[in-house]
Formats: sequence, C-alpha cells, structure tokens
Amino acid sequence: MSNSLMSTYLPQPVTFVRGESATLWDDQGRTYLDALSGIAVTNLGHAHPAVTQAICAQAGQLIHTSNLYRIGNQQQLGDMLTAFAGMDRVFFSNSGAEANEAAIKLARLYGHRRGIERPAIVVMESSFHGRTLATLSATGNRKVHAGFEPLVSGFVRVPYNDMATLRSVAASNQSIVAILVEPVQGEGGVHIPAANYLEQVRQLCDEQQWLMMLDEIQTGMGRSGKPFAYMHSTIAPDVMTLAKGLGNGVPIGACLARGDAANLFQPGNHGSTFGGNPLVCAAAMAVVTTLQQENLAARATTLGRRIAEGLRLALKDNSHVLEVRHLGLLIGVELDAPCADLVATALAHGLLINVTAERVIRLLPPLILSDSEADHLVKELALLINAR
Ligand SMILES: *Cc1c(COP(=O)(O)O)cnc(C)c1O
Repeated sequence: MSNSLMSTYLPQPVTFVRGESATLWDDQGRTYLDALSGIAVTNLGHAHPAVTQAICAQAGQLIHTSNLYRIGNQQQLGDMLTAFAGMDRVFFSNSGAEANEAAIKLARLYGHRRGIERPAIVVMESSFHGRTLATLSATGNRKVHAGFEPLVSGFVRVPYNDMATLRSVAASNQSIVAILVEPVQGEGGVHIPAANYLEQVRQLCDEQQWLMMLDEIQTGMGRSGKPFAYMHSTIAPDVMTLAKGLGNGVPIGACLARGDAANLFQPGNHGSTFGGNPLVCAAAMAVVTTLQQENLAARATTLGRRIAEGLRLALKDNSHVLEVRHLGLLIGVELDAPCADLVATALAHGLLINVTAERVIRLLPPLILSDSEADHLVKELALLINAR
C-alpha cells in the first residue's frame, strides 16, 4: 500500500470494484452482501438503474454551471423534496456536515434577529453531526473533539431522551435559540428515544420560541420506515438536515426549513460552489421518485421487523446480547462487551456490517433488500455472534 493518503481512516483490506443491488464484488471476484449501504447512503442499492440513467443523461448534457445562474433541476428537486419532506424551502450542500453548518447558521441568524447577542444551540450527549469545526463541536463525543480545541462555542449539551434536564436548562439559560437533535441516534449506538420525545421537544420549543432542528442525515430518505423519521410522530420540525441517502452515493446534502426559519437566509448570507449542481440534482430527483413510486419506506418497515425479529429469535439464548433495537432499517444489536472485531470476521464471511459505540453492531442494509437476503443476513450474523 502506498502512503499517499492521509490516515483519516483505517480501511479493511478489501477493494470493491462493482456493485449491483445489495451485492458487492471485490477485485478478486468474491461477492459480499452489503448490510451497511456505505453508512446509510446507497438506500436504493448499488447501480440502481434509475439513478445510473439520470446521472449518465445529465453528465452528457451539463454537469456544472454555478449558483450565480438559475439551475432548472435544482428548482425541480427543491419543489419535489420540500413537498416530500413537508418543509417550505431548501438549501443544497455537498455533505451532511455542510447541511448542519447551514442549520447552525440559520439558528444564529434567528437568535440575532431576536436580539440575542450570543445565541446558543442545545445539542445532545452521544450525538453525531459531522467533522467540520462547528459540527464536531456540536457532536457529543469526546473522541471527535480531542486535539481540535478550541471548539466552536455556543452549544449547550444535555443527555438524549431526557426532558427533565432539557427543561431545567431551558429555565436557566436565556441565550438558547434552537435545539439540534437526531430522531434516532445513529453513530451514538442506534438509540431510539421515548415514543413522545419529539412531541415534548416540540412543545418546549414552542414555549421557548426555539427552532426545532432535526438531523435526519442518517434517519431520512425512507430508512426509518417513514420518508423522514419525524413522521413517526405528530410534529413537524422548523429545520431538517439531509445528506447520506439523498443522492444514493453522489455527494449532496440539504438543509430544509419551514415557516419563518425558511426565510432567514438572504443573498450573501450563505453559499456553495458545487451545492445543488445539475449532476447531483438529477441523481437526487431519481432517488426521490424511486422512493415514492416503490414505496420503499414501507418496505423498510417490513424488512426491519423481519430482520430484528429474526435476530432476537436466533440470539435469544446468548447472554452477551443485551438488546436488539430498530426503527425500520436502522438496526442495532448491543452486546455486553466491545465487538469491533466482528467487522473483519463478517467481511471474511462475505458480509458488510458496522460496529459503533464500541459494542453496538449496526446494520443499515439497502431498502431494496430481498426477503431471502434478509434471512441470509440474520442467519450468518447470528452464527458469527454466537460463535464469539
Ligand atoms: C453521517 C452523519 C453526519 C455527517 O455527514 P457527512 O456527509 O459525513 O458530513 C451528520 N449527522 C448525522 C446524524 C450523520 O449520520
């Protein structure tokens, strides 16, 4: 291996050269079942024909101009996505971190407009919001902060799924203008909050005139069993961020807003050279259309139940398995000890999985997985866990 790449990752010793649906091929011709989807990105599977066709057609016509000019399919995607998401307006970025940066900037503008000099945003313990300076500061993980101090100020941290602490912070801090929260914590270990958590947060935001900002970068685009995870509740957020599954692999993120929050940015406040260019918008339109036409959110519900129930049954006699939890196809299997070694073991058995928060096996298979692939995943993974 040459040493030309900075050591930001420690990749597994495998190189994939081709993919189709939930199957990947490596450069030795071996096949693998992809139960990770590039971390919730390729929700429609690899080489989905609608996405491939959209990218090829757009690449042959026009890849990039500039946001200094109107971009027809950015406007079209904006219309489609705001309708799909129940939001009013959207800003397109190139990644999840950048989508959250836009949300953080919206919250600051909102605060200053209310005359609050040093506006603060409530964020959660065990959260993940990205690797830029502001988003790593918002992230609730010391390992993500370490070495990059001074952190960006203006974040107040509380435990996830804990309304009592949140209410007491609200009562004692007059600088808070917004809350940024994941509907399910993904990187943090697939933590699913109480059924009425989002409703209670919404109510507090209304009382306090805070913006309710949801990071749906991992939970959005059908993965949770609804188009967006907040749709499991009765509320609507003021701001919602997306990325990962939005482009099925082309880099696109989005910061959506509703009501007053949608009108905060004025020309000159924010921007991006690549954001929402013709190529990525063509791909994302194909993704949104396919998700809707094939009702893949409902498929995520069915598949998630099948996999979680299968795993519970196959692991019921394993005392090291603390819990199998899931919302749609966000699936976590929590063990009683660190289990990062399972990633390499699974790979050797032709299975792509992930371990997060040290001892939570995380599965994020594509929404187009077949029943037999789901059953194969359950069987193989249970064997590996039971063999430890
Ligand atoms: C992946 C992720 C991000 C960061 O997205 P990038 O595209 O890697 O910048 C932010 N928030 C959540 C919840 C994520 O899962």
